[in-house]
Amino acid sequence: MTTESTHPDLAGLAPATTAVAAGRPPRGQGEPVNPPVVLSSTYVSTGTPGAEMMYTRYNTDTWLPLEEAIGALEGSTLPALVYASGMAAIDAVLRLAAPGTAIVAPRHAYLATLNAASEQVAREGGALREVDIADTDAVVAALAPAGEVPASVLWIESPTNPMLEVADIPALTAAARAAGVLTVVDNTFATPLGQRPLAQGADVVVHSVTKYLAGHSDVLLGAAVSDDPDLRGRLHARRTTGGAIAGPWEAWLALRGLRTLALRVERSQATALELAQRLAEHPLVAEVRHPGLPTHPQHERAAALMNGFGSILTVRPAGGAAVAEALTRAVRLWVPATSLGGVESSLERRRRLAGEAATVPEDLLRLSVGIEDVEDLWADLDRALQAAAG
Ligand SMILES: *Cc1c(COP(=O)(O)O)cnc(C)c1O
Repeated sequence: MTTESTHPDLAGLAPATTAVAAGRPPRGQGEPVNPPVVLSSTYVSTGTPGAEMMYTRYNTDTWLPLEEAIGALEGSTLPALVYASGMAAIDAVLRLAAPGTAIVAPRHAYLATLNAASEQVAREGGALREVDIADTDAVVAALAPAGEVPASVLWIESPTNPMLEVADIPALTAAARAAGVLTVVDNTFATPLGQRPLAQGADVVVHSVTKYLAGHSDVLLGAAVSDDPDLRGRLHARRTTGGAIAGPWEAWLALRGLRTLALRVERSQATALELAQRLAEHPLVAEVRHPGLPTHPQHERAAALMNGFGSILTVRPAGGAAVAEALTRAVRLWVPATSLGGVESSLERRRRLAGEAATVPEDLLRLSVGIEDVEDLWADLDRALQAAAG
């Protein structure tokens, strides 16, 4: 096999079809339907290496089908790059920021992303400017404020984790481009079915493939996508040097999970909206947040920019943090655990984690809705709310 892609023409196919059709072996009598797992650290090679496989840290057959599928889903003409985890991808992409410049990022971005960015600017000189990503004017003002180091990277997460703020991605990428600032979108929460950031002007998209793309809470993996050959080339070079590469089994498992992405996301989004609406009426619930509720501050923006509203919601039970904590012990079907995007529904009180932003309420529960029956999920939540309230 070579590093050349072998897929049928995916142009014009709907994402649900792409998730199934991309990354298949070439069609031929007796060829397998699924790509094989290649367990080899090195490849036979003589003379000056060309585009063929040579050593597994550079490239390997087992990544390519997954890279092709994720790249196509994000609407890129180039394959994605997969990494050992979402954070390995994010760490590599953050290095696109020039030393001595600022990284502008949502104050409610994924916690480890903010940690990685602040460690990087501490090491290299520069600044991390945290913003309310929903406040477009404030974000644009943070790109090049008078008397401060200008930004070289605008990091966008939308919806944010766990506050679910929704960014105006097209407006932000346009402003960043005009200011010569690269934009990166962490598209983990929305998935490529929910939004296509490259089409909205982003330079790079990153994923924690661990979450929806793989979808079964059995693998850690990350991806970066760019349709700029120069940016992708720099990222590929850095991945080869940094060595934060994915294992072949993980890549294969993620591709297997990706095949059902559309079914899983359609089901979990519909259930999340239904549960959000019911919880908003529940007497033991103080506040519900979900971009699909008209009460969400950026509901109109989400409706205009996204396809669906995602499968994450947040709930603040009446009675405060102790009740919220009790609820995580009272659920039987919902799994109390960190992480999200699996077929199983899970929940977590985010402030139990040291380092979670102080602006996240102590009593806030983040719910990741899976694909179980909506009535079973509702019954378990309703019973746990009553048990937790005592
Ligand atoms: C989980 C997550 C990450 C980190 O991904 P890992 O695969 O755990 O390394 C990054 N961004 C978001 C939005 C996440 O939810």
